[in-house]
Amino acid sequence: MEIINLTSAWNDFVGKGFVKNIFTDKQGRKVEAGARLGKNGAEPYAIDADTKQDVCQPPQFIQLANKMEILFNHAGALKPHTPPVGAGRQPDLPTSVTDCTLKCQEANNPLSVLNREFLVEVAVANKRWRAYPNVAPWEARGVAIWLVCVTEQNKVSLPHTTQALNFEDVEDFLEIAKACQGWITFFNSLHAGASANHLHFQSVYLDHKLAVESAPTVKMGEYNFLKDYPASGLVFPKNVSAEELWQAIKKIQNSSYPFNLIALASKIYLFVRNIQNEALPEFPGRVFSGINLAGLFISTDPEELKRVNEQVISTAYAKMTVGGEELGRLLG
Ligand SMILES: [Zn+2]
Repeated sequence: MEIINLTSAWNDFVGKGFVKNIFTDKQGRKVEAGARLGKNGAEPYAIDADTKQDVCQPPQFIQLANKMEILFNHAGALKPHTPPVGAGRQPDLPTSVTDCTLKCQEANNPLSVLNREFLVEVAVANKRWRAYPNVAPWEARGVAIWLVCVTEQNKVSLPHTTQALNFEDVEDFLEIAKACQGWITFFNSLHAGASANHLHFQSVYLDHKLAVESAPTVKMGEYNFLKDYPASGLVFPKNVSAEELWQAIKKIQNSSYPFNLIALASKIYLFVRNIQNEALPEFPGRVFSGINLAGLFISTDPEELKRVNEQVISTAYAKMTVGGEELGRLLG
């Protein structure tokens, strides 16, 4: 597999002015926000669509003592918030194709993903996958979603399957993750941060290590576990075989536990989630995903930012993930 140059495809896309979204902010202004090309590549911006003046600061990174980071997205904070729903298990996402939020079979619908430009298309071990850009990215240097595509008689379709993995998907995931240098790749299952019930991976540009990569590990039985890290999880080497990774995922998935699979620059992590703590009372309606658990807490809410700190994040991550005996039993 050759290298997939997502950055170059992303920058072309940004250069054409395609990565932007327009919304009415809390003050009633029409705001245009997204990514534009600057001296050092793609950079975030948010302007008043009428006056063209900048309306907020660029995103801000706050480094915590335990190596965790908070990314505060000022542009996201301008958007009116949807009222949070409760804590605990969240409603199931519908599985039927007619309810697919990507509108994957509706070529005549302008909002369908079929009518969006894609960044790259690659053939890996089992299937062809397309990376589509996220046009409201929390990282201006690139956020993409990977979908399976099928070409028959010059016609491209995006088959609708639910957001769950099989062995072939894991094989493809590992190949894509390895090929996307400078980007990290992840899979969030249903009830673990997935926002669409249509099989997808995501990749995001990342130029530094996340906190989880510095965490110690302990080997018990055939698995390596995170140790002294707020979230419980499994650790695999970057060159883990698809078979070995699949054996763990299969057990978790068959037991109906949600999970996050994330391939970082140095290692691969698997977080098993407590479905009863899908959303916590301290973060109502908010479902954290793999990249958050790996050490990047992303916030668009200034009120939330005031009350989060190392302790709050650590407590939350411990409650959301399954470890100890329960995880041991699951993998046994
Ligand atoms: Zn679909």
